[in-house]
Amino acid sequence: MKQNRLAASPGAVVFSGLLATVAFLGVLYSVGEAAYRDLVFSGLTGLFATAGAGAAAIWAGWRANFTSADLARAEHDARHDKLTGLYNRSALFEELEKAAELSQANETTLGVLFLDLNRFKVINDSMGHDAGDELLRIVAGRLRASVRSFDVVARFGGDEFVVICRDLLSEKSVVAVAQQILRAFEEPVSLFGKVMTASASIGITIAKPGDPRRAEDLVRDADAVMYKAKRTRSGYAVFNDSHRLEAIERLDTERDLVQAIKEDQFMVYYQPLVNVSEKRLYGFEALVRWNHPTRGVLGPGQFLAVAEETGMIATIGERVLREACAQAAVWNHLSPDARFVKMSINIAEQQLVDANFPSLVAEILDWSGLPPEQLVLEILEDVVVDHLDGLSCLRELRALGVELAIDDFGTGQSSLSYVKQFDMVSALKIDKTFVDEMETSSSNRAIIEAVVAMAKALELRVIAEGVEDKDQVKQLLDFGVDIMQGYLFNMPVAADVIDPSSWFKTRERSPEGLKGVLVSQAFSQPASVERPKRRG
Ligand code: C2E
Ligand code: MG
Ligand code: MG
Repeated sequence: MKQNRLAASPGAVVFSGLLATVAFLGVLYSVGEAAYRDLVFSGLTGLFATAGAGAAAIWAGWRANFTSADLARAEHDARHDKLTGLYNRSALFEELEKAAELSQANETTLGVLFLDLNRFKVINDSMGHDAGDELLRIVAGRLRASVRSFDVVARFGGDEFVVICRDLLSEKSVVAVAQQILRAFEEPVSLFGKVMTASASIGITIAKPGDPRRAEDLVRDADAVMYKAKRTRSGYAVFNDSHRLEAIERLDTERDLVQAIKEDQFMVYYQPLVNVSEKRLYGFEALVRWNHPTRGVLGPGQFLAVAEETGMIATIGERVLREACAQAAVWNHLSPDARFVKMSINIAEQQLVDANFPSLVAEILDWSGLPPEQLVLEILEDVVVDHLDGLSCLRELRALGVELAIDDFGTGQSSLSYVKQFDMVSALKIDKTFVDEMETSSSNRAIIEAVVAMAKALELRVIAEGVEDKDQVKQLLDFGVDIMQGYLFNMPVAADVIDPSSWFKTRERSPEGLKGVLVSQAFSQPASVERPKRRG
């Protein structure tokens, strides 16, 4: 733009000069002398030739200016990400090749950091794409501010970023950069009036002089180890050779999961929850299993993280919900006492942030014929805390008549103060680690006791998870915890292991008028009965 204005002013000068000369020649011509006329003609010819050449020169200059500005912009756009202004993926690889060469020449260390935002999909889905974009811009700014001016920061795609730190003295300096970045994330983010904390997982790969890996390999390795940081919630992890194998396995799992969904290779196992003081079966927890064609029956620990990272958890979760509700309805049909037994189902965050989730639950209840009061949805503590003001669906679910329970209580941002504001939750499941720690120290016992007392005061039902020995049972009963789940009572089992005629047999009427179910029947199953069995 600036060049165009500059080009216009000499044009104006030439134009005024031309006008003046034409006027002068006109005067000469009007005098009428032949000599003057010849002079006028040759003057005019010269004048037009000069003007033409001048105009061509100005036009060429203007074009040249215009084209170089345009070219520079096009070149910038080709190497930068539109949303964040950071380098894009292709520029990243060029810069990484250069940085690797430099580090080789200077015999210094090169660090590649692969950063992925935690739960970005959930933020995007629940708060909208504008909020997601704004978060990416904020993250880009924080990344830039956390590294040295000559370090390269690039957006790799989606919510993934790569930082290249060249010319470092040691491995420690690379780790220090990652720690610095994670510190920058501790500052809360304000997204359209909602204050939240964004967090990230960083995979680090370090190349020493002589490292044969190419730019693509370095990024791939940093990406692979990022998943480990994410799974272990450790913030960052540094790549080593054992991770290469894990990365390959992860890719295999992802590929096999696609097939598993197509072929419906999932099964649901059921683990009893026992009301020990009333000696009755309180409920079941539905736990997903994957009947893998070559690896055998896999537990959630072996595939759930990949299902969450890839979004496949929503499909798997819906199938578990459908199957467990249908199973509970079948038991109701086979034994009238089964109606007093709850069916607890784990719900992933990605399911909860879907606005259609409450109508899906309503549809499944209707389809299966399961009374809503028998269904309990288990939600992880961190998910509840993160969505205190955002999960309107929890209210809709409560309105359907289903119960909500906080799962793995004690593993997250444990604070009973939020539960107080949260009248929609009716039960709290104390995590196994708490139950284990109860035995190790008196201060842990005091914590559990306080948690149980507060939960009771808030009229929340308390359930202890992972109960494995009788001393724990005794201790928990002393604290006032009646409902327990754990290997001591039963392993999770396939549905056909549960014989309705014995498991749901009426024992007696309890004081509230509910019919109890003989707990001794639940105890009677051998602890090792978790066996592979395809459903259907
Ligand atoms: P969770 O919801 O806390 O479930 C309890 C886990 O503890 C189960 O592991 C169960 O087998 C195990 N467990 C029960 N009693 C004992 C015990 O006495 N000792 C020990 N060591 N473990 C015990 P599982 O089946 O491997 O499931 C792990 C986690 O995977 C679950 O933890 C839950 O968070 C998740 N999960 C399972 N099924 C689903 C599902 O369908 N959807 C979703 N979103 N998550 C699921
Ligand atoms: Mg659970
Ligand atoms: Mg749990």
